Amino acid sequence: MESIYGTTVTARQQVTPQMVRLTLKFDEGTEWTTTGLGDEFIHIDVNAETLDADGHSERHYTVSGLVEGGIEVEVFLHGHGPGATWGREAAIGDAVKISDPFGYYKVPADAGLRVLVGDLTALPAVARILAEASADERFHVVVELPSLSETRDLPTAATATVDWRVGGNGIGPSLLPDIVRELSDNGTVDPAGDEYLWIAGESKVTRKVRTQLRHEVKLPITRQRIVGYWHANAEQVQEAWDALSDDLKAQYMAIWREDRTDEENWLELEPFLQSVGH
Ligand SMILES: Cc1cc2nc3c(=O)[nH]c(=O)nc-3n(C[C@H](O)[C@H](O)[C@H](O)COP(=O)(O)OP(=O)(O)OC[C@H]3O[C@@H](n4cnc5c(N)ncnc54)[C@H](O)[C@@H]3O)c2cc1C
Repeated sequence: MESIYGTTVTARQQVTPQMVRLTLKFDEGTEWTTTGLGDEFIHIDVNAETLDADGHSERHYTVSGLVEGGIEVEVFLHGHGPGATWGREAAIGDAVKISDPFGYYKVPADAGLRVLVGDLTALPAVARILAEASADERFHVVVELPSLSETRDLPTAATATVDWRVGGNGIGPSLLPDIVRELSDNGTVDPAGDEYLWIAGESKVTRKVRTQLRHEVKLPITRQRIVGYWHANAEQVQEAWDALSDDLKAQYMAIWREDRTDEENWLELEPFLQSVGH
């Protein structure tokens, strides 16, 4: 974990049946500065004894809102992992340690339509991106949910169309690859256009979608940001990583270079992962 900031849970609100919003107020004297990015996220110490599939004991959550002296996060109560359990049990007065913020949603200055696609873990970011958008921005949003009872209002000053689907989210096959094909077929995402595409969801699914965008849609990597937010069967993913030799782990780390964008790194990473059976 990077810098650590102390916070306290000061409010808890059930947003939809499977999503809880927690307000975390910073301890006095804490100086935590927002990145200003719509999909800004932090690492939260959820008292996990197990690592997530990326080897962190903390869990990643989007800063779904900024409030006076604090932040809001929204936790999908999907199962009994440490993050979901923390979200289910967090009570007003609990102390919570969080990290510096990071973010990925960086729209090129000349972009037109913003296309946001994701599952329920992506919805807090989608909601914040829309809430902070200006009146001259245009969005097309497609979110797959475990159930239509997870739909909600997404207030925005921008022009936005929102399409809710049911699938993925650990309850069934993800629709994200079909949604991307649909968006390409109907011209919403066009390699010759000026759209900016942001996608977040399960990691194997986002890898598939990235490959699809590269080989089938041929969307330039500067006009897309695809992020794996969680791993189905995280325990097996972690075991498979642990089983890699030190040499292969070093090769992986060498591919993930700080002087390239993540999407540039993925051009090499995807074939490497496939070559080692991941
Ligand atoms: C940048 C970023 C931002 C994110 N923002 C949010 C957010 O705002 N809200 C949010 O709820 N999540 C968010 N996530 C996803 C969240 O970090 C993961 O779902 C995380 O794995 C949850 O940790 P856990 O301890 O509950 O489960 P883990 O210990 O990681 O896994 C335990 C079990 O739960 C399963 N599991 C994990 N996540 C899910 C899921 N989403 N659906 C179904 N099964 C799952 C795993 O496959 C595993 O079997 C974000 C992730 C990233 C990378």
